Amino acid sequence: MIDSDSSDGKLPPLVLITDDNPQARMLLRRILEREAFRVEEAEDGESAVQKARSLLPDLVLMDIQMPVMDGFEAVRLLREDSLTERIPIIVVTAAARDSIDVAHGFGLGADDYILKPFNSSELIARARSKIKARRLEDTLQRRNAQLGILSRIGAQLVRALALPELAEYLLDALLDHLKGSSAILLLLDDTNTPNFWLVRGNSLERLLPLLVVWLPRYIVEYGQPVLIEDAQTLEPELSTAFTADQIRSGIAVSLAYQGRVFGALAVASQQTNQFSKYDLRLLEAVSAQASLAIRNAQLYSDLQAYAHNLEAMVQTRTEALQKVQQQLLRADKLAALGTLAAGIAHEINNPLQPLLTNLELTLEDIDQTRPIDRELIEFATHDVQRIKRIVSRLLDFARPAQTAFTPLPLNDLIHEVMVLAGKQLEHARVRVTLRLEAQQPAHGNADQIRQVLLNLVVNAMDAMPNGGTLLIATADRQCEDVPCLELLVRDSGVGIPPDLIVHIFDPFFTTKLGGTGLGLAISHSIIEAHGGQIHVESVPNQTTFTIYLPTAAEA
Ligand code: ADP
Ligand code: MG
Repeated sequence: MIDSDSSDGKLPPLVLITDDNPQARMLLRRILEREAFRVEEAEDGESAVQKARSLLPDLVLMDIQMPVMDGFEAVRLLREDSLTERIPIIVVTAAARDSIDVAHGFGLGADDYILKPFNSSELIARARSKIKARRLEDTLQRRNAQLGILSRIGAQLVRALALPELAEYLLDALLDHLKGSSAILLLLDDTNTPNFWLVRGNSLERLLPLLVVWLPRYIVEYGQPVLIEDAQTLEPELSTAFTADQIRSGIAVSLAYQGRVFGALAVASQQTNQFSKYDLRLLEAVSAQASLAIRNAQLYSDLQAYAHNLEAMVQTRTEALQKVQQQLLRADKLAALGTLAAGIAHEINNPLQPLLTNLELTLEDIDQTRPIDRELIEFATHDVQRIKRIVSRLLDFARPAQTAFTPLPLNDLIHEVMVLAGKQLEHARVRVTLRLEAQQPAHGNADQIRQVLLNLVVNAMDAMPNGGTLLIATADRQCEDVPCLELLVRDSGVGIPPDLIVHIFDPFFTTKLGGTGLGLAISHSIIEAHGGQIHVESVPNQTTFTIYLPTAAEA
């Protein structure tokens, strides 16, 4: 327990009697000692000033008429010196001179006066009242200073959000205000194991490992602040460590939040008796503020770590998702190509027979040393070019998707897709009409738009098992007053029932045996990524997909 301000736990008050008359001094001493004051004497002003400076008495009784230096000069000197300026002084003066002496004495800074001959109980009463007033003033001043320190530290603590920064500031402020040589902050985890400590000022090589173990145990178990006035009096193990780090005294308090102790705060000094109970009380007040601030900092750092984790998690998931998306794109492309595979194989196979025949005939010409028929070679070249065209269109689909957006002539793209799908459409008895009126290039990615087109064409073919008509059209349009491109794919197939039409862009929605249900979902996301739109309208015998894309000029 720390005792209160009023009972200081110190020696009785010390009074310095100043009088050149030994009998007068003796009389005063007797009166005062009977009331348990401690007494010192000075026989002139000069020695009074010296003794006051060295003894720092609680009160000076000052005679006026003295040799060497009179009482007035002594009062003046005492008031000039910061060491003695606040020591209460009672002027003791003869009644005959009272009005002059008293006024002059007050003018120089005396606190009170007593007229000779005096009444002893009045002297005691005045002495007590001056000493008490001075002590009250001291207490108030100390309190004021503490409040100032507290509010300064508090304001800073609230500002610091990161624990290391906060800890450094806190310890430096304590070192500064409490005149310590080292300050220590120690934090405990949920199991009361130290998990953070910081020392500022002189390092504590021997002491720190001990404190880390000893402080939490002591503070958590006893919940008491610690005031060590002289480290020599501690148990030997501690005392040795204190001595090794040249620490002579120290104070320590707990840090607690909502009743749970989670750390300790300590200041140490190389002087014995460096810290008073007032310092300990200040440390306690600081610790209350620091506890909150540290808790805040811990919460803040938890939150930051959490946010950071979340970010990393989102990043990982996004990457995984992107990978899956890439795989889906590829799967869809292969599925669409698969539908066309038979037709494409046919397309490649068809020119092979005439090609072979033409080459054989040419060889015969050569063998017979006949002039070579130029037309045979021309036919062969033509066939090879046809095959080459198909293979190169196929390669368009097979190579890894490009992501760049460029000016995109839609009409060319449609011709390219027709090279691949043409034969298949022909076999399926689908009559194709192209109405390619767009003049402007679109802004987009050729690989992706080609994939969308192929999806729409394959779907149309699927919807017309007994043949029909397919219209593919492009046109320059306005989308909300801005030039755009329209790409329209219309078939005369079975149509899409109204209750299903809302689902056709959903991933994995399919009405086909062996369908993937991905074509339209992927097409939709491709068009969206282009800043375009895709719509569908369907009645029996007429289904129309309409795509709007930005023009290269507007992009
Ligand atoms: P899949 O073709 O693998 O089924 P899609 O996403 O390409 O997947 O198409 C989803 C569904 O939309 C098809 O199963 C079909 O029911 C319907 N659909 C798409 N295009 C047409 C169309 N032109 N005519 C009729 N139904 C269509
Ligand atoms: Mg499809």
